[in-house]
Amino acid sequence: MTTRTKRTRARGKAASSLTLPLLVRRDTIVFPNQAAQVLVFRNSAQRAVEAAMEGDHRIAVVGRRNFRERDFTAEDLYGLGVMATVSRTLKMPDGSLNILLEGTSRISIDRTHLDGPVAQAEVTILEEVAEKTDEVLALMRAVLSLFEQATKLSPQMGEDAHVMAMNVDDPGWMADLVTSYLQLSLGDRQELLEILSPLERLRRVNLLLAKEVEILQLQKGIQTEVQEEVEKNQREHLLREQMRVVRRQLGEVDPQTKDSTDLREKVQGLGMPEEVQKKALEEIERLEGIPSMSPEVGVVRNYLDWLVSLPWQQATEDALDTRVAAEVLNENHYGLKRVKERILEYMAVRKLSEGKLNSPILCFVGAPGVGKTSLGKSIATALGRKFVRVSLGGTRDEAEIRGHRRTYVGAMPGRIIQTMRTAGTINPVFMLDELDKLGVDFRGDPSSALLEVLDPEQNHAFSDHYLEVPYDLSKVLFIATANVLDPVLPALRDRLEVIELPGYTEEEKLHIARRFLIPKQREQNGLGGKDVRITAEAVRRMVREYTREAGVRHLEREIGGVYRKIARVVAEDRPAPRRVGASALPKYLGPPRFTWGVAGEKDEVGVATGVARTEAGGDVLSVEVTLMKGKGTLTLTGSLGDVMKESAQAALSYARSHQRECLIKGITFEEQDIHVHVPAGAVPKDGPSAGVTMATALVSALSSRPVRKNVAMTGEITLRGKVLEVGGIKEKALAAHRAGITTFLLPKKNMSDLAELPPKVRRDIQFLPMEWVGEVLGAALVTATGAGA
Ligand code: ADP
Repeated sequence: MTTRTKRTRARGKAASSLTLPLLVRRDTIVFPNQAAQVLVFRNSAQRAVEAAMEGDHRIAVVGRRNFRERDFTAEDLYGLGVMATVSRTLKMPDGSLNILLEGTSRISIDRTHLDGPVAQAEVTILEEVAEKTDEVLALMRAVLSLFEQATKLSPQMGEDAHVMAMNVDDPGWMADLVTSYLQLSLGDRQELLEILSPLERLRRVNLLLAKEVEILQLQKGIQTEVQEEVEKNQREHLLREQMRVVRRQLGEVDPQTKDSTDLREKVQGLGMPEEVQKKALEEIERLEGIPSMSPEVGVVRNYLDWLVSLPWQQATEDALDTRVAAEVLNENHYGLKRVKERILEYMAVRKLSEGKLNSPILCFVGAPGVGKTSLGKSIATALGRKFVRVSLGGTRDEAEIRGHRRTYVGAMPGRIIQTMRTAGTINPVFMLDELDKLGVDFRGDPSSALLEVLDPEQNHAFSDHYLEVPYDLSKVLFIATANVLDPVLPALRDRLEVIELPGYTEEEKLHIARRFLIPKQREQNGLGGKDVRITAEAVRRMVREYTREAGVRHLEREIGGVYRKIARVVAEDRPAPRRVGASALPKYLGPPRFTWGVAGEKDEVGVATGVARTEAGGDVLSVEVTLMKGKGTLTLTGSLGDVMKESAQAALSYARSHQRECLIKGITFEEQDIHVHVPAGAVPKDGPSAGVTMATALVSALSSRPVRKNVAMTGEITLRGKVLEVGGIKEKALAAHRAGITTFLLPKKNMSDLAELPPKVRRDIQFLPMEWVGEVLGAALVTATGAGA
């Protein structure tokens, strides 16, 4: 191809060379065989046009590169332009010259003279040789067919453009003609101008056209879609308007008007506070003004629905008889004597103050399944109030409590208001569950919203973002619950009257199961009329080997599991058992999940039993220590937190500095690797209260003295060996009792916590007060002679 281009150019050069006035354009506007109207502004350019008019009307038109600049030099000009004839000039009122150019042929610009009065160029006319090979013919046809499609798709091109192209039989000319109809950048146009081979030019044009057709087709698709949508909307609008007119003429009431009349009546009958009623009526008025098919209608309607469906005045009458309340509480709950007393006192105070006194909010703290929710329900029953609850677990966003502003798409009131709607009265018992699981993050702090909910000074005008009007929560009886109190924000804690439910002993669980859980589950599983007993021994085995908890939630589930299996047997008309004993449990519940009593078989070296407070109440844990020859490193494993790791280090330092008292002999600590492990390894553990347990396990390993089985301990230690007081003694003691521990070593300062323990626990376990680690070691370790065992 290039050779032919060269040949063409060479032949052209030989043919004719001449000097012409030079018209420099910022764009190459004109192609050979093409006419174009052009406005000429510059004086220098106008002079060139005049010179051409004075001569044979021929002029050299050439484009320039940096067309954004005003001025140019000879270097900016392209080497290839077009020779054109100026066929008409017209002076315009603004001083510009309107001229008609008719392109005749491509020219190469050999030299320019820009300095003289009229710019001139020495040019060579480049003749084109159109060789009509088969390939050229095929390309011409292809271009023509694409061009036809393009003109049909694009009204701007006009269909006569295609007719014109059909009548051109010169390939180069056809390419130029089509080019002039395409929307191309200046660079692309110049590039096409510079392709001298007609075949090559056709190829490029063919590609460009194909792309253009594709774009035009897409564009058409989009337009059709838009148009259809618009037409549909218009048609609907028209029909609706017609329907309205028809209705009016028939004397019927428009549903929208009827709707708002109904709403207005409703609003006026609800006993809303004045401010709220005003707002509601305003919104109804606004609703009437909105065209019925606007999306705004739904938004306003939804808002009004909320206002109308919330309780504003509806209340239940309080039954404040504490004797009745005591009955209800006893009927539904076994034990919990102190808890019940405090609840009754609380209710008595409320009764005497006639609700005028700002009594604090009750907060039940205890492990899952100790009866927090069911106590709340009983309080509601005793008072004759509705009971509702909201679980705050995982709430991180203030908007969950307080709602989103109405400007948000899909906005709704927060959970407090939502729950008030469920309650349907302004004075329900409202349980805020899992206060300790409240989260905080960048979306705002939900606890600040909760503070407002629980503050008697503020909650008569609780503000929900969605509702916009204040809502009165002051008649609500809030009760909070938490598994542990530590994570609860101090500001929130101040508002709460905390009632702790530490968990149940085995005996209590057996009672609860017999009196409450078994009858309830038998009833719930459709065996109410049947006499199917679960023996006391079976329940005991469930408590010991199928559950490990402070409460009775899992126990209730296991009992339910047994009855479900039996229900199926009954439903299938097979003979059902009349009683389920302990040995039958694996048949119903699968193999036991826990081994009862970690208290070991025999006294062992390097293993000590501690007790920890967990979310499930309390649990026993063992600390294991092994020794290996090495370089004196201490390894700690079992997902220990920083505080726990530090207390292991403190325990080791204590042992090293008190070797004689600890009866440690023949240990070179620099060559002794020590590994401390606390199973279960996957459960994260932290806190200082395992200090004494760590020290006991370490000294046991280092002095080769076994730790007594059946001894458990808790307490923080200092480097000097003092035992400091710790929290959660009640939960820990119950866990130790569950595990069959008989001796419990605890900080002396904690002895007062034992007063609240069930008598049975106090009877079964010997509680020994400890002030110094030495005392702990003395009580826990078996001495060499074995004396005192
Ligand atoms: P929590 O709210 O503390 O997790 P729940 O109130 O849900 O616990 O109690 C779990 C189940 O145990 C309920 O069926 C409840 O009735 C029962 N339960 C808990 N404590 C007692 C109790 N002292 N007497 C009778 N049933 C109890």
